[in-house]
Amino acid sequence: MNRREWLRALGLVVGASAKPTAAFGLLNGSQQPKPEPSSEAQSLTLADYEPKSMLHAQETALDRAAFPVIDVHTHITVSKKSQNGVALAAQRTYLGQPEELFSVMDRKNIRSMVNLTGGYDEGLTEVIAKYDKAFPTRFYSFTEPCYERFLEPDYPRIQADAIEHAHSAGAKGLKILKTLGLYLRENITSGKLVKIDDARFDPMWDTCGQLNMPVAIHVSDPIAFFTPTDRFNERYEELSNHPDWSFYDRDFPSNAELLEARNRVFARHPRTQFTVLHVGNFSENLDNVSENLDRFPNMTVDIAARIGELGRQPRRSRRFFDRYQDRILFGTDATPHGDQFPQQVFNDKLYEIYYRFLETEDEYFDYAPAKVPPQGRWRIYGLGLPQSILKKLYNENAARVLQISA
Ligand SMILES: [Zn+2]
Repeated sequence: MNRREWLRALGLVVGASAKPTAAFGLLNGSQQPKPEPSSEAQSLTLADYEPKSMLHAQETALDRAAFPVIDVHTHITVSKKSQNGVALAAQRTYLGQPEELFSVMDRKNIRSMVNLTGGYDEGLTEVIAKYDKAFPTRFYSFTEPCYERFLEPDYPRIQADAIEHAHSAGAKGLKILKTLGLYLRENITSGKLVKIDDARFDPMWDTCGQLNMPVAIHVSDPIAFFTPTDRFNERYEELSNHPDWSFYDRDFPSNAELLEARNRVFARHPRTQFTVLHVGNFSENLDNVSENLDRFPNMTVDIAARIGELGRQPRRSRRFFDRYQDRILFGTDATPHGDQFPQQVFNDKLYEIYYRFLETEDEYFDYAPAKVPPQGRWRIYGLGLPQSILKKLYNENAARVLQISA
């Protein structure tokens, strides 16, 4: 049996049902007599496969974090309108009302949520009034660039001024979605892609530095999104469920090109603080993230939606947390009612998993509240971080970056 037939037998080829000859008998080893495969085994496809671990492993229930949490990466509001990946409206869609969020926050010891996608102009003012001002210290909002006006000749100045207005309206920082580098084009939604280090954004980065407004920046995605969606892709199911998440081919830059353009921005704006989301956008390669942290003192990272990556390399991750304990921020990417993305759905279970990962030495557990691991079929191992690091991670580092009290 060649490799392809073997994968087919396991149901690893999409849409193919297993050949009756092998099915799971293959996994039993050759010494035992092979039982006749059941009809379910014959037709089992990868999507239906939900193996239950037989491991007798420690299960620690952690309802609350060891210290009050500042979640620096949430999406409580999002743009009302977007086209080809570019947000085009100041107006916001509200995903969770404050009162509804408090129940989870209070049960899970979440002191504050940072809503990164607060928008701009009147959309932002409304968000700040409803959350930040109505419930001080519980919510902080970030502004975002107004790409709608990108074609105006004076855009660099307009965008820099918009940062100043957002700052006086109460925005705590600037959020850059991967729009810049992967979606924004010369004619906004068509034409050539605009590079992350495009000079038209220089005044914006500088203004953030002058106003001490941190920039939360997301420029790339899991490295598997830049490779073909085939049987070798470790995020095959995730990409099959979300084909538009693939940046393989077409006119997209490579992951390396995106990170290099981002790094040129960091080098050019040393007075501006950048928090690179999702573990510096390269959680599969902590050596790369470490090199960049060493190179750029103006860089910090969050861990949002990447405990699946950190937790499958627990010894390397532990060294990473030890070394950069002052520069890692707690974030989850939590999205109220984001049920279609279990790795970031805002609920009790999500936070319990994060706390278990950071605080315990439990082994081989799910990184997301889902029947099938949504980002790839593996499980994770807890880091068992000491209290001194947990305190920094849960709130002190974020408080320093956001310039609020810990
Ligand atoms: Zn996010």
